[in-house]
Amino acid sequence: MRLVDLYGHEDLKLRLSSAASSGTLPGSLLFHGPRGVGKQRLALWLGQLLVCENTPAPCGHCRSCQYAVNLTHPDLHWYFPRPRPKDADPDLEDVRDDYRDAIAERLANGGLYPSPPGNEGIFVATVRAIVREASVTPAMARRKIFVIGDAERMVSQEGADQAANAFLKMLEEPSDKTTIILTSSEPGALLPTVRSRAVAVRVPGISESAVRQFLSDPVVSTALDKTGPQKKTLNELLQLAGSAPGTLFGGEARGKAMASARRLIDAAIAPHSSSRHAAAMGVGASGARGSFTDILDSLIIILGERMRAALHDGNNERAVAASRAADLVGLAKVRAGGNVNPQLITAGLLHDLSSALR
Ligand SMILES: [Zn+2]
Repeated sequence: MRLVDLYGHEDLKLRLSSAASSGTLPGSLLFHGPRGVGKQRLALWLGQLLVCENTPAPCGHCRSCQYAVNLTHPDLHWYFPRPRPKDADPDLEDVRDDYRDAIAERLANGGLYPSPPGNEGIFVATVRAIVREASVTPAMARRKIFVIGDAERMVSQEGADQAANAFLKMLEEPSDKTTIILTSSEPGALLPTVRSRAVAVRVPGISESAVRQFLSDPVVSTALDKTGPQKKTLNELLQLAGSAPGTLFGGEARGKAMASARRLIDAAIAPHSSSRHAAAMGVGASGARGSFTDILDSLIIILGERMRAALHDGNNERAVAASRAADLVGLAKVRAGGNVNPQLITAGLLHDLSSALR
């Protein structure tokens, strides 16, 4: 299995490659945008571009490109949330082994994976591994590239850890031998010390034709058979994917989140406030923060679909309403990042959505 190709993002690819070739690419980047649009894949593509031995890069043929798409390039590193290590202070080797296994698992599925469960994070042991790795000279390429996915899961470091400070310094003043690419679907939840040090690049959803190309890639079909939603027609997959086909690999939990989100929309536009109350109570109270975030993400996807449908029908008023509603959900996501009860957030959100959508 190889890493699935990157689909869509043509404008960004052009911008990033011209910045790289003119030497103006910032050393610390933050790719932010909706979940499932391919931010980590785009970051790995940029990594490949930076290690490629030919022009125009990435050529796709050289030794470095081959290593990059097999995720075996010694200078291209990929980190993302993992379960908290059992040992509070694990060996660096243990951390490396854990990522080697996790990356092999992602690669076995074409680099397509569900969003990490709520209890996974980027813990201090990982930050230590990154800092240590960055202190070693590149093995093949001119620089080392660190892709750090779902970076908002970087756990606020307990105490004044040296590694945390060293990492912030790396972000602030990257050497000409390192490029750090953070990705996040929830940039508002990033540690402010991290967010302020990286140059933000918005990664939008991809077009329907790019999603169609993605869906016809054999790597994707194989991965869908293994881990995608069960027995769906192409049209159903297109519907489910919206402009973020990575969300198809969210598995069972994501399907449930999508169903809950649709129920919430129905409740918001229902004529009686009693159904809104019932729907709010139906959202798990606590201990399910991960799945609550999934529900809010699903709401944004559904509202995006509503907006596109409205624009397609030439109904601007309805499109504006859907877009305003998506903003409200975004605000609710910020609140959900704090310690507010999901039912309380949902009750407020449904109240606001019902006026926005009617
Ligand atoms: Zn190449």
